[in-house]
Amino acid sequence: MSKNWQPATQLVHGGSIRSQFGEMSESIFLTQGFLYENSASAEARFKGETDGYIYARYGSPTNDMFEKRMCMMEGAEDARATASGMAAISSSILCQVKAGDHIVAARALFGSNRWIIETLAPKYGVTCTLVDGRDLANWEAAVRPNTKVFFLESPTNPTLEVVDIAGVSKLAKQVGATLIVDNVFATPLFQKPFELGADVVVYSATKHIDGQGRCLGGIVLSSKKWIDENLHDYFRHTGPAMSPFNAWVLLKGLETLPLRVKQQTENAAKAADFLAEHKAVAKVIYPGRKDHPQADIIAKQMKAGSTLVCLELKGGKEAAFAMQDALQVIKISNNLGDTRSLITHPATTTHKNLTDEARAELGILPGTVRLSLGIEDGGDLVADLEQALDKVKF
Ligand SMILES: *Cc1c(COP(=O)(O)O)cnc(C)c1O
Repeated sequence: MSKNWQPATQLVHGGSIRSQFGEMSESIFLTQGFLYENSASAEARFKGETDGYIYARYGSPTNDMFEKRMCMMEGAEDARATASGMAAISSSILCQVKAGDHIVAARALFGSNRWIIETLAPKYGVTCTLVDGRDLANWEAAVRPNTKVFFLESPTNPTLEVVDIAGVSKLAKQVGATLIVDNVFATPLFQKPFELGADVVVYSATKHIDGQGRCLGGIVLSSKKWIDENLHDYFRHTGPAMSPFNAWVLLKGLETLPLRVKQQTENAAKAADFLAEHKAVAKVIYPGRKDHPQADIIAKQMKAGSTLVCLELKGGKEAAFAMQDALQVIKISNNLGDTRSLITHPATTTHKNLTDEARAELGILPGTVRLSLGIEDGGDLVADLEQALDKVKF
């Protein structure tokens, strides 16, 4: 394994462990436990004196391969693979806070992330402040003497706002808070939060990493010290572990990640440019376009745009529903990062639990639609969008 490998090489070869059979494709170790040669070796392994697996809730070979490949790609020292993205995010927060602590988070969050911070954490005596994360002054103003964690997503779901990760990280270091970045929308290819100063990076592997709609998964990555001191025991004893079968599916997903994300991003750029010119569309937000309101920050911290496009239709909810229902290639689904192009109306699905006011604050209007571009032919996708928009009143 070489640290000098480019991502495309790391994602095919990184972390592979082969058995005595020399299998070419990595094996699935579907076993819940492991055997010991004798009593003394069991004792030594439990004491941590010798390496080796104990129980699949703690770790196992296929999960290890997935974790090591992700560590290599992300530039992390250690990681824990989890059953879903939410298991990764809830673990990364809850493993390190105690009653009396305070969290500051950007308010533009994936719905379940917001629930954990706003609703669950306070039940355990952990308070939170949600801020408009685009302005560093808001982060600074929200800090209290007991602030322990900063949490953000960038770009955000669904309106593709970005947060200045290096700026927030600098402040986190000054006040002694741990910065967790949910990097799902950027993918490990387009944004490197550790290089920007993040302490912990989390993913829903369900999205681009699988990218083929097959299974759930997640991962928490950090320094060895942070994992040892915060996540290690929490992970062993609360049990959010990933199934080895899913770790194997996700390892296969990583092999083709760069090819898929490249095609998806080209399709997204093409769709964004087409939509921006269409008379039924009021606004297009795409991190790869020069007219993105935060293009300067994007240029500083992202290597490329995104596989997602957010648009606002002039005709409101009625137009959004008419467009979605008229699409033939693009399917209606709340998933994202998939090989299939998918469309979502956030106000009535993923963000339905927010008040109208909270949605408006986030820029989620009745005519807002989120598109996740797949790997289909870009021309076919634009033609599908065109025939659907022709049916929309505005
Ligand atoms: C999907 C998603 C999650 C949650 O992941 P699951 O695998 O569905 O649990 C968290 N954050 C973001 C940004 C997501 O898109």
